Amino acid sequence: MIDLRSDTVTEPDEAMREASRDAAVGDDVYGEDPTVNDLEGRAAKAVGKEAALFVPTGTMGNQIAAHVHTEPGQEALVERKSHVYKYELGGLAQHAGLQVRTVDGGARGIPTPQQIESAYVEEDLHRPGTGLCCLENTHNARGGVAIAPERLEAAANAARERDVPVHLDGARVFNAAVALDVSVTEITQHVDSVMFCLSKGLGAPIGSMLAGPAEFVERARRTRKLFGGGMRQVGVVAAPGLRALENVDDLETDHENARVLAEGLRDVDGFAVQEPETNIVLVDVSETGLDVDAVLECLRERDVLATPFGPTTIRFCTHRDVSRDDIERVIPRVEAAVSV
Ligand SMILES: *Cc1c(COP(=O)(O)O)cnc(C)c1O
Repeated sequence: MIDLRSDTVTEPDEAMREASRDAAVGDDVYGEDPTVNDLEGRAAKAVGKEAALFVPTGTMGNQIAAHVHTEPGQEALVERKSHVYKYELGGLAQHAGLQVRTVDGGARGIPTPQQIESAYVEEDLHRPGTGLCCLENTHNARGGVAIAPERLEAAANAARERDVPVHLDGARVFNAAVALDVSVTEITQHVDSVMFCLSKGLGAPIGSMLAGPAEFVERARRTRKLFGGGMRQVGVVAAPGLRALENVDDLETDHENARVLAEGLRDVDGFAVQEPETNIVLVDVSETGLDVDAVLECLRERDVLATPFGPTTIRFCTHRDVSRDDIERVIPRVEAAVSV
C-alpha cells in the first residue's frame, strides 16, 4: 500500500523507538520529566519564542491558544478555509466561547491587512470586540501553500496594531520555511503564539508544540490541564519528538516528491493538478467524469491511498515513509485507475 492520505501516517523509525525506550522520564505534571523539558526548550528556541508546551495534538494546541488569548464572547478572526475553523469541531465556540468571523484569504489563504481592518470589531456597549486573529502556514486546505513572511507580517501587524493577538496554526510551518528557504523564525517572529506538529512531516508518532511568551505558556499549561492534557511520564513520547526536530531538512525531499507526483498526474486524462509548493498535491477530478469516491476506490484497488478533499478534489500528501520509487509507481496506477 502506498499511503498518500496524510503526512500523519508516518511511523516512528528505529531511532525514535530506541529514543523512546531509553528516555529519562518523570511526572511532567510536576514539571519533572527531563525529556519533555528538553523538548520544550528546544522547540521554543527553534521557533524563536521564550517558552513552549508539549501537547498531545495540534488541535489541542490551537484550542489552548485560543482559550488563553481571549475572553468568552469575543470574536475570533479566522480564514474561511482554515483548519481551526473547518476541522476542529467548532472548538473555538465550544471551548473558548468565541464568536467566529471568517475572512476569505483567497488562493493563498492569507487575509490582506485591509480585510483584517474591516473585519476588526471594536469592543463597545453592543459589540464583543475582536479577541484573536488566527493565521495558518502552510495553508492545508488551500493546497499546502507556503505563505511568505512579508504577507504574514502584513496581516499579523494589522491585527496587532489593534491590540489583537495573533496565533499561527503552524502545523506545517517547517514545510513553509523549507519551501521558502527562510529560517522558520522569519515566519514565527510576526505572531504572538505558534503551534506546530511533530507528528506530521517531521515523523514523530504523537505530539505538537505550542510556543509563545513565557507568561502565555504558563497560562497554556493550566489550560492544557483543564482540557485533560496533563500527561505523566510522557518523556517516552517526547523523545521521538526530539528526533523529529532533526528531520526538518528532509522535508525538502517530500516537496520534491510532491513536484514529481504533480508532474506525473498532470498527464492523467481529466486531472486538473494544482502546482504544489510543499508536500500537498490537490487534484480536481471533475473532468474525469468520475466522482471523488469512485476515483479513490479505483486507487485503493491498486494499493494507493489518497484523501477526499471537497466534492471534486483529492489530496495527495507526500511524507518520509514514501520514496521517490513509490511516487513513480503511483503515477501509472493512477492512470490505470482513471482510464477504466
Ligand atoms: C493536522 C492539522 C492540525 C491539527 O493537528 P492534529 O494533531 O491532527 O490535531 C491543525 N492545523 C492544521 C493546518 C493541520 O493540518
